[in-house]
Amino acid sequence: MTLITVVDYVLRVLVVVGFGLLSIRKGLVDKTGLIAGLVIGLIVILLGGWNWFLILLSFHIMAGLVTKWRYDYKRSLGVAEEKGGARSWKNVLANGIVAASMTVFEAFVGGQVWALAYLAAVAAAMGDTLATEIGLLNPTPPRLITKPWRIVEPGTSGGVSLLGYTASALAGAIVGFLGYILGVVPEVSEIDFALFLLVVVVSTIIGVTVDSIIGATVQAQYRCTVCGKLTEKPVHCGKPARLVKGYEWIDNHVVNIFGIGSAALAAILLSAILGLA
Ligand SMILES: [Zn+2]
Repeated sequence: MTLITVVDYVLRVLVVVGFGLLSIRKGLVDKTGLIAGLVIGLIVILLGGWNWFLILLSFHIMAGLVTKWRYDYKRSLGVAEEKGGARSWKNVLANGIVAASMTVFEAFVGGQVWALAYLAAVAAAMGDTLATEIGLLNPTPPRLITKPWRIVEPGTSGGVSLLGYTASALAGAIVGFLGYILGVVPEVSEIDFALFLLVVVVSTIIGVTVDSIIGATVQAQYRCTVCGKLTEKPVHCGKPARLVKGYEWIDNHVVNIFGIGSAALAAILLSAILGLA
């Protein structure tokens, strides 16, 4: 190991810790979220490298901004993230574990298919966050993905809107484009670039759709015994709420992992079919 390499690796650790501390200061994560974020960030920057980390960072910053954006308005609707939007370890792991796993596969198994899957995983996490936070502001209420003729309240699991889908596609395009210019998938030629972008965008949309379908069908949904509202949370108004649908263990975080995992899987399959990796 040369001196340059040592300095490089020390810098990587310092940068991740630096962004971690900044994130807790800005209220983007709580203490448990900080620890989970450090683990994910270190895996990505140490095994993937600086460019892989920049992709993850773009998600983190975007998620923070969009969650804080019009926070008071979303809270007035009762659909905002709790604790001022500071994410806990569950939220950080749910959004980051698939991407971190793809980094590990790329480092130890090898092959650019993992890089594509990594981009799809980050894009799906970003797409879901954007769709949720921006979709909440859709002028018309969302429709249930499994029964599109049914209008549901904003924030309902499985509710989708055109604005939300547009935001997801945009997330796929942004992450795909960043991945290309940062050289995360180095062997993609310029001719293949359009196809490559398409794979990331389509995988993102598949991930967000799977997320919504699981959200509409098997995700736990409760009714508050105090205020009568439907909620994803097992506790509402300080009292345990009644399970009215789905399975108790399938909460929002589990749904997220399935959605993001589907996006990664879609990217692996699509790139094999199209001969990209
Ligand atoms: Zn309540």
